[in-house]
Amino acid sequence: MLTDTHTHMNAEAFDEDRDEAIQRAWEQGVTRIVNVGFNRETIPSSIALAEKYDFVYSTVGWHPQDAKSMRDEDLQWIESLCQHEKVVAIGEIGLDYYWDKSFKETQQQVFREQIRLARKVGLPVIIHNRDAHQDIVQILKEEKAAEVGGIMHCYSGSWEIAKLCLDMNFYISFGGPITFKNAKQPKEVLQKVPLDRLLIETDAPYLTPHPYRGKRNETAYVRLVAEAAGELTGHTFEEIARITTENAIRLLKLQ
Ligand SMILES: [Zn+2]
Ligand SMILES: [Zn+2]
Repeated sequence: MLTDTHTHMNAEAFDEDRDEAIQRAWEQGVTRIVNVGFNRETIPSSIALAEKYDFVYSTVGWHPQDAKSMRDEDLQWIESLCQHEKVVAIGEIGLDYYWDKSFKETQQQVFREQIRLARKVGLPVIIHNRDAHQDIVQILKEEKAAEVGGIMHCYSGSWEIAKLCLDMNFYISFGGPITFKNAKQPKEVLQKVPLDRLLIETDAPYLTPHPYRGKRNETAYVRLVAEAAGELTGHTFEEIARITTENAIRLLKLQ
């Protein structure tokens, strides 16, 4: 029983073999998949996937990289979709200062609006954070995100920042990088995160774990992430699979 709390199986990369890839995940023991929709194109296809498969859930949100294109109607649209029985979180939302620092303020505004929406509808948030640790924590605090909690997805920050997020009722999710030899920081942070706040994910088709690094990632490989998390924490694969699934069920109210 494994749960991938962050994947993009609706991505173009799976157009040739999406159903087979989801079947492979099931065969590897994945019993719950949270697929992330994050803009005008990916939200409808993510929800469609959740409607097609009992064990697939969807999120709805606006990615920081698309912040410039979000209109008021988009936010209303996202709000209306929160009623959907398979929509379990607002995300991925956050800040990404890696690719383009030129529109930080727009990103921050779009991020704030969506945290307010999450509080309004009572759904947790899924946070995308790239090179923006301080601002993320500050905004989560100012917008009272602790009220709904959520997931720091594919966490890459320090333990100090992780502690602040844990204090705000967030879970910390790790992906493929914890299987890389050179990924010292996420491994160290993972070892310190309380087990009842730990989650695992793939972020497929990106961030492919070892030994498939360089190839397309897919949800079936969340098993490799669970194995790595087990090795790092001194637990068996089965224990990590069970604990992270229980955590996901509790936070996202999955079936
Ligand atoms: Zn992300
Ligand atoms: Zn993602």
